[in-house]
Amino acid sequence: MSKYRIVLDYGHGGSKPGAVCEGTEEKTVNYLTGQELNRHFRTLGGDRELQVLLTRDADYDIPLSTRCALINAHHAQEPIRLVLSVHYNAAGTPAYAGFETYHVATSQKSAGAAEKIVAAVGQANFTLRRKPVKTTEELGRRLAILHKVRPPAVLAEVGFLTNPIDRGNATDPQYRSEVARAMAQGVWNYLDHEGG
Ligand SMILES: [Zn+2]
Repeated sequence: MSKYRIVLDYGHGGSKPGAVCEGTEEKTVNYLTGQELNRHFRTLGGDRELQVLLTRDADYDIPLSTRCALINAHHAQEPIRLVLSVHYNAAGTPAYAGFETYHVATSQKSAGAAEKIVAAVGQANFTLRRKPVKTTEELGRRLAILHKVRPPAVLAEVGFLTNPIDRGNATDPQYRSEVARAMAQGVWNYLDHEGG
């Protein structure tokens, strides 16, 4: 049994590409960035310390209701410390850029995890949005992956596919690996801070 159990959720998949911009599909960069996160978690923790559960491990569509049910079933078996859902953003203007996170206002643990992730990403000199930790109320949308799961949960928007620089970064394997390393470190700081 591992000390910590977390869920990594690669957003969208299969027939649901998420945001698509200039030929870059969100589902693909979510998956590739998520895989890097998973790899960094393994080097940070190892199996005895950290068990990482995935909602999808290839390019297929898994409905949000199924993802949430799966996560809650895992959580009922043995507590999940954090759900991290990996996404890239899109906007009507190319002006928006940078990393941000969302969480539900009612969960202190989710807010704490989002703060740690953003702090680590900022410390590694990645561009953050002006307000990089937002509640879903501030976002103005309820997100199933945050509102319908019982464990603490954070949705990370790694960058904007509608911004040329962010999109270039999203399609750069080295960039993805580095931003994932910072995100994994942030999650680890949260888990360590929360204690076993
Ligand atoms: Zn998305």
